[in-house]
Amino acid sequence: MTSSDFVEVLVLGDGIIGLSCARASAARGLATCLVGRRRPGVASAAAAGFLAPTIDPTSGAALTFMVEGRERYRSFVDELRAATGHDIPFALDGILRVPGSEREAAALRASADAASPWLDPAEVIELEPALHAPYGARHHAADGMVDNQRLLRALEEAIALANIPRLNAEVQRIRMAGPLVSVAMDDGRALRCRYLVLAGGAWQPLVEGLPRHLPVLPLRGQMMSLVGSPVTRPVFGFGGYLIPRPADRQVMVGSTSEAVGFALGTTDAALTRFRDVAARLVPSLARADEVRTWSGFRPMTYDGLPIIGPDPDNPAVLYACGHSRNGILLAPITGDAIAALAAGAPSPHDLSPFSIARFPASAAPIS
Ligand SMILES: Cc1cc2nc3c(=O)[nH]c(=O)nc-3n(C[C@H](O)[C@H](O)[C@H](O)COP(=O)(O)OP(=O)(O)OC[C@H]3O[C@@H](n4cnc5c(N)ncnc54)[C@H](O)[C@@H]3O)c2cc1C
Repeated sequence: MTSSDFVEVLVLGDGIIGLSCARASAARGLATCLVGRRRPGVASAAAAGFLAPTIDPTSGAALTFMVEGRERYRSFVDELRAATGHDIPFALDGILRVPGSEREAAALRASADAASPWLDPAEVIELEPALHAPYGARHHAADGMVDNQRLLRALEEAIALANIPRLNAEVQRIRMAGPLVSVAMDDGRALRCRYLVLAGGAWQPLVEGLPRHLPVLPLRGQMMSLVGSPVTRPVFGFGGYLIPRPADRQVMVGSTSEAVGFALGTTDAALTRFRDVAARLVPSLARADEVRTWSGFRPMTYDGLPIIGPDPDNPAVLYACGHSRNGILLAPITGDAIAALAAGAPSPHDLSPFSIARFPASAAPIS
């Protein structure tokens, strides 16, 4: 590409959100280019892969979007399989929430409903024989999981197979150029585009020239994986969770939520706690060998909801960032929504809860 290059859609960011947006906009026939440079701590590779809109649910149109996001996965994995031949481990056969005390059990039982019924201990054993759930468990029956590491690889391959240009570069600066946006990269190249999609995860606010304050902060999450696959579905309990990776014969344990800036790494305290959570939920995991430990940065907003849609003053800038704890869940549906907007069509989903206009346009002064 030369310095005078123009594309209709430039997607900044090569995590799951950027990949999904680039794929969807190219599928609409828009000339699309993906620019990204992977940093250590990229959230999409670090994540657990829950598809869990009904665990600690939001409400109203935001909840509807999250549930639609979960359901979109059914066709999304089929599309990726058809495009790449990759079978992405994915299941919507429930998530269990295991209480650690009578008191917690009473609260979970009281909030159970038709979509997430209460199971007594015998019913839990029928579903998950290795699980220790002496009080029973709540079953979020329609939620599930996806192997986000394999999903990421399949999406990357789909982008390559569709011949979508992908530049391994750092976007340093953006500038409004009339109705277009000009994007400057660290290798001296510049591109102009009709739509710029901001999908840079926790690092997005660091780009110079953004039209307004972008309230996205890194929230570190630590993880651990152990040998063995004693459960078939994800389980929450004892302040942590297990999520199986049967294709690797492993189970992942997580997580933490730490405001430590971009400090990557794990701590002894967190890893000890993960060991404890794993052993309490599945006693046989007490002796399981550790495979690896890691951490990553969730792109957090103040309200935990993503920022999706056009900038109010510069509609050529489309936000697709701040997906907080639900970026895996929302990647396919975010791609659909952004691609529709870039094609000049209305979004197929109500994006009103996700407008950046819900935040102040400039950063509040520190007093
Ligand atoms: C431990 C952990 C567990 C999680 N579990 C779940 C879960 O179970 N379910 C769920 O739905 N979500 C989960 N999440 C959240 C989810 O991972 C994120 O919301 C999602 O991955 C965000 O994707 P993204 O593409 O926006 O950002 P990222 O995956 O971080 O990708 C952003 C990319 O853009 C690149 N980039 C940024 N700025 C620039 C620039 N200026 N120039 C070039 N490249 C740039 C970065 O280097 C990076 O490669 C979890 C997150 C963590 C950390």
